[in-house]
Amino acid sequence: TPIIVWFRDDLRLSDHPALHAAAKTGAPVICLYVLDDAAGRAPGGAARWWLAQSLRALGADIRRRGGSLILRKGPAAGVIPEVARAIGATAVYWNEVAQAPHQSVEKALEAALAKLGIDSHIFPGDLLVAPSAIRNKEGRGLRVFTPFWRRVLALGDPPKPLPAPKELRAGPKITSDALESWKLEPSKPDWAGGLRESWEPGEASARTRLRDFLKHTAHSYAGDRDRPDRKGTSSLSPHLRFGELSPRQVWHAARFAAAENPAIGPGVEKFLSELGWREFCRHLLHDHPDLATVNLQANFDGFPWKPDKTALAAWQRGRTGYPIVDAGLRELWHTGVMHNRVRMVVASFLVKHLLIDWRVGESWFWDTLVDADAGSNPANWQWVAGCGADAAPYFRVFNPQLQGEKFDPDGTYVRRWVPELKDMPAKLIHQPWQATPIELASAGVTLGKTYPQPIVDHAKGRERALAAYANIRKG
Ligand code: FAD
Repeated sequence: TPIIVWFRDDLRLSDHPALHAAAKTGAPVICLYVLDDAAGRAPGGAARWWLAQSLRALGADIRRRGGSLILRKGPAAGVIPEVARAIGATAVYWNEVAQAPHQSVEKALEAALAKLGIDSHIFPGDLLVAPSAIRNKEGRGLRVFTPFWRRVLALGDPPKPLPAPKELRAGPKITSDALESWKLEPSKPDWAGGLRESWEPGEASARTRLRDFLKHTAHSYAGDRDRPDRKGTSSLSPHLRFGELSPRQVWHAARFAAAENPAIGPGVEKFLSELGWREFCRHLLHDHPDLATVNLQANFDGFPWKPDKTALAAWQRGRTGYPIVDAGLRELWHTGVMHNRVRMVVASFLVKHLLIDWRVGESWFWDTLVDADAGSNPANWQWVAGCGADAAPYFRVFNPQLQGEKFDPDGTYVRRWVPELKDMPAKLIHQPWQATPIELASAGVTLGKTYPQPIVDHAKGRERALAAYANIRKG
């Protein structure tokens, strides 16, 4: 009798504990993915595009091993028992997701299956460490990253990753939705050209990317990771977001590479601590299911945000007049990601210079990022806004010009994404408003026409932000 393996944000065959256990029984295995927008936060546009590609890749990998991937839509706790009954399955296997809305779906599913006499087998999900393993004396999760990460490291290596099953015994024939009928990909207009150019979703390409990073980039990661003008990071975030790779696989591959080549050791440790931030954000989400809507620091609840549609649209389109900010937002629109340093700069600009609520920026990222993550996105936005758990102090207002000069010193990143400034000399590219009319003319730039004037003056914006902050501190 067949077993169902329920796939979720774990779209891979290796290190998939539920699939591994199901295949080991020798029973026929039905791989099932359920599109259930009511469980958790429904993915935004860019993530839906990624999901479609990743499901295609997963389906092909499963077929190559003799199995098939069945697609269904609807509430998972209703759909899965229905499929189980139709094929006479004796058990459903899945990896847990340690987030409140997913946990309630899992509970409801388990109860519905039990009523039918079908077993549930639940395996650890995509965390290095379960939230219950890292608690303070009061039983709460830690709110500061450094002690959190120290505790994770003290627990030692996570379990070794599991191999992918070599073969899957095919189960009974059952109908599947056509992926196209879910309309996960945009058609009119088709805005996904830049995503197609930039990415190849799926487990195989995730593993290649990890291998390439450890071979070619890890040695300089510690120094280059803040440089948007260099290819200094792993670009693994969307692959991790959809579970095409597990953090344990990343951990063990990185530690193994460092043991083989000690020269990359410092880069690897820094890289693993970034993976630690992902973990930290997920633990925060576990403890605060409303992370995307509620300030972690309640004194921010009365913050005098200033909704401003025109300024927001300029920010979204990369037309603020600050080159590093505009480059970041255009990179995001084209590729579905943005360099981490630049994410911090554009987020700070929205929240502090424009005084627009961090939740508005978070939603834009949610819709446009291929790595949009229910933990990392709101946790980082709260961190930048100053209302987060382990937050940057609110009074630290990034100066976009200085950030550009420091992290994109030759203007290579700006030239790539803001081509109308490509002929500006390096010393002016982050502050075109300081250029003389002759310098502007020789670069072919007319401020206010070919490229915008700054929509807000840095010094004034900074003062306004500090005044707003002083007010909430007074309560
Ligand atoms: P690398 O530097 O190679 O890091 C390796 C991995 O560590 C990443 O793939 C990612 O999984 C994790 N990681 C790195 N930095 C962070 C971080 N600050 N927080 C959490 N995890 C991290 N990351 C997301 O995965 N999804 C998001 O929705 C997201 N939203 C963000 C919003 C803002 C405002 C900011 C400032 C950061 C956000 N990040 C988010 C974190 C970070 O920018 C990306 O993870 C990183 O840019 C991905 O590039 P990479 O894979 O090359 O990273």
